Amino acid sequence: MIEGSAAEIADAVNARRVSALELTNALAARIDERDGAVGAYLARTTELAREHAARVDARVAAGERLPLAGVGLAIKDNMCVAGTPTTCASKILADWVAPYTATAVARLLEAGAIPLGKTNLDEFAMGSSCENSALGRTANPWDLGRVPGGSSGGSAAAVAAGEATVALGSDTGGSIREPAAFCGVVGFKPTYGRVSRYGLIAFASSLDQIGPISRSVADSALLYDVMAGHDPMDATTVERPVEAAAPALRDDLRGVRIGIVKEFGLAELGAEVRAVYERAYDDLVKLGAELVEVTLPTAEYGVATYYLIAPAECSSNLARFDGMRYGLRVERPDVGATYEATRAAGFGDEVKRRILIGTYALSSGYYDAYYVRAQKARTLIAADFARAFASCDAIACPAAATPAFAFAAKTDPVSMYLMDYYTIPMSLAGLPSLSVPCGYVTTPGAHALPLGLELSAPLFAERALLGIAHAYEGATRHAFARSIPDLPRAAALR
Ligand code: GLN
Repeated sequence: MIEGSAAEIADAVNARRVSALELTNALAARIDERDGAVGAYLARTTELAREHAARVDARVAAGERLPLAGVGLAIKDNMCVAGTPTTCASKILADWVAPYTATAVARLLEAGAIPLGKTNLDEFAMGSSCENSALGRTANPWDLGRVPGGSSGGSAAAVAAGEATVALGSDTGGSIREPAAFCGVVGFKPTYGRVSRYGLIAFASSLDQIGPISRSVADSALLYDVMAGHDPMDATTVERPVEAAAPALRDDLRGVRIGIVKEFGLAELGAEVRAVYERAYDDLVKLGAELVEVTLPTAEYGVATYYLIAPAECSSNLARFDGMRYGLRVERPDVGATYEATRAAGFGDEVKRRILIGTYALSSGYYDAYYVRAQKARTLIAADFARAFASCDAIACPAAATPAFAFAAKTDPVSMYLMDYYTIPMSLAGLPSLSVPCGYVTTPGAHALPLGLELSAPLFAERALLGIAHAYEGATRHAFARSIPDLPRAAALR
């Protein structure tokens, strides 16, 4: 049963064929068995999970029907859950316990989801491999010698390894979609402003968005329907009715126009990777879609633009970690020295690099040359998408140029930054965008490694986007062709 989809599990619990508590215990046993090798979780919340499960069982017994009854949820550890440690995988918050619960999490729990634990990430969600975590190492369940992707690597690995039915990630420039692609699961970033970020510890506030990671598009739609919508606690959420996506999932693509981006030609990809994407585009046509070429001439500036805006915002957001109000404090004789010593000891190298870049880009004399220009470039990128969507309903492209890479394979920061080449432009434009499994490549060690197809849609077109992804997934079945239970063998190879 714990292999089932969120919808199947909720149905079974609502019909009282199985209890939420039994399922919670079964998932806890699964985590015991696998997480030693995978390392998806930084902290488990097993007692809290059992309390929630008992409450769900009581509500169901009293006649309630809950959309996520008994569904095991893994939560990225940059989201607050009251009474549990919330670390952002940083030494500076290693001992901090959240005093309240993030709205997105609270909505899922209220709908019957069970909080299994907090998952690993790149420190403060800065990275594309999960290797920037200061508190743990997460392996890709498909090949334990490879990274799970980042920054939501723990959440993607947990779902891929069957250690959670669904998970929450956050995506600033690709952090849901890239790890989902690397781990062979679905990862969905809704439109900026669709899901409350209250209780998500901020990295880059104009980009951060919470979204689901799951084994199927239908499960992501289910979570989205529960989470989306205005929240008085987050002024960036939009007061606009949410059209439920789950009931609109479709099985074909007749009448759908899919844009293929001229500038994202497949020629530069490795031969095996290219073949997977060529087949994915063919599959879209077989389902009835019409492919149209679209052009995003400024998309190539996405990475450069993002690496000014995101660090600028993070330099401001992370100023609060100074040892005074919460988190680590390294005591020194005066307050300035205490700030310095605390931040020097608490932040890792990548976080420090971003704070330095961002502070520089915002400093007087450089503000116009860097930050303002980046904002102008961002506007041009958004305008490119708006033009492209005049001739198509969604855009298809690779989620990443390669499958998951080996630990320590990317030593310079820029090669890591480039991993988000295909995901950053959509983030800058605020668009809903997802990655759905689209096939596999094989590696010398004979591991199959998954690849993801990225589908993106106009602002607030979540319902259409999830419908298209569902048709693609259902017709190709890549998402269900998993061989994850090979894990013990993969573990032996390590
Ligand atoms: N990899 C990108 C970065 O390091 C995006 C991370 C994210 O989306 N949180 O900033």
